[in-house]
Amino acid sequence: MDNFIFYNPTRLIFGKGMIAQLSQQIPANKRIMITFGGGSVKTNGVYEQVIQALEGRDYTEFWGIESNPDISTLKKAIESGKEKNIDFLLAVGGGSVIDGTKLISAGIPYDGDAWELVKKGSAQNTIPLGTVLTIPATGSEMNNGAVISCRETHEKYPFFSSHPVFSILDPTVTFSLPDYQIACGLADTFVHVMEQYMTKTNESYLMDRWSESILRTLVQIAPQIKENKQDYHLMSEFMMSATMALNGFIAMGVSEDWATHMIGHELTALHGMTHGQTLAIVFPGTLRTLADKKRDKILQYGERIWGVTSGVPSVRVSLTIEKTEEFFRNLGLKTRLDEAGIGDDTIEEIVRRFNERGAAYGEDGDVTGEVARRILQNCKS
Ligand code: NAP
Ligand code: FE
Repeated sequence: MDNFIFYNPTRLIFGKGMIAQLSQQIPANKRIMITFGGGSVKTNGVYEQVIQALEGRDYTEFWGIESNPDISTLKKAIESGKEKNIDFLLAVGGGSVIDGTKLISAGIPYDGDAWELVKKGSAQNTIPLGTVLTIPATGSEMNNGAVISCRETHEKYPFFSSHPVFSILDPTVTFSLPDYQIACGLADTFVHVMEQYMTKTNESYLMDRWSESILRTLVQIAPQIKENKQDYHLMSEFMMSATMALNGFIAMGVSEDWATHMIGHELTALHGMTHGQTLAIVFPGTLRTLADKKRDKILQYGERIWGVTSGVPSVRVSLTIEKTEEFFRNLGLKTRLDEAGIGDDTIEEIVRRFNERGAAYGEDGDVTGEVARRILQNCKS
């Protein structure tokens, strides 16, 4: 294991009816801004529960944080937060609302343009943020990351600031999720684990087993959720899998990759494609391209997750990659660029961007623009 410092201060509040906990979690003297997405919380009862829990408290509402939160929307929230002297933020929604609110929390105490913070990649000075999560996927509810978009320039970048002080996870609020969002959330969770697991062998037996426990849980529950997405037990497992996949637990002392995510972000920036869908296309291509380099880890993964034990190594590697792609296909997602109508012009634009910024992703920093081209070429049918 490499040296590491682990720090995760987010208080997790889990279970049915736990939104009522809100008033105890936010200090009484706070001027709160509650942030929301496009309105799903108005139709599934989440909004009423939040408002009821905060009755008598000093709060304002900010609506309209879109999927892949856009800097122009967030700047409006920051301006309003400054005017109203907001000193506590409550994000009610999915990764997009939570990520966007992380930037708002850094933008309110910042004097300059909030896009500067995004370009810088991080901010230390923030106002506290709590969340009510409505979709399992990103882990944003228990990490200090965010991904912010600028539609005007077709850009999308990661940004790091503070962890939420608390996050409320009530699995019943996920019962209203559309099938497509569930599929994208399962794919995102799966690939988050892979970005921290599909690297080198024997760095940590414990981290490998923790990662594999999440992967096996996802493989087990995905087909069951398809049959019954309003099952409390199944959605609890999904919610906790998503949170545990990207809260730092499985990353202690081991290498991380993130090339698939960085390529996926470009597909969203250029084509507006949903995050989980980009990963279902790119990740199998990453494995095909880097199969030799990652061979031993793919063999371990194939054996422990998919039961691939017979045949010579090259056959086992191919079969394991096929099983991975089939997992995404069974979720109902596309796994090839041409199915999404994406061609060579997009591939070349991504290579150009990677080269321009001197991209060096992957566990050894060797996924450059040229390697990204090979990966994307391997995402075609
Ligand atoms: P999302 O973009 O927050 O939400 C997707 C859609 O689901 C929205 O249209 C939303 O509608 C709807 N929705 C959410 N909860 C619902 C519910 N309970 N019932 C019905 N509809 C519901 O999805 P996400 O996958 O959580 O977030 C994606 C963003 O997170 C991307 O920008 C991605 O790059 C980023 N991300 C962040 C991290 C991180 O660590 N911070 C990691 C990976 C990805 P409404 O708007 O109407 O609510
Ligand atoms: Fe992700």
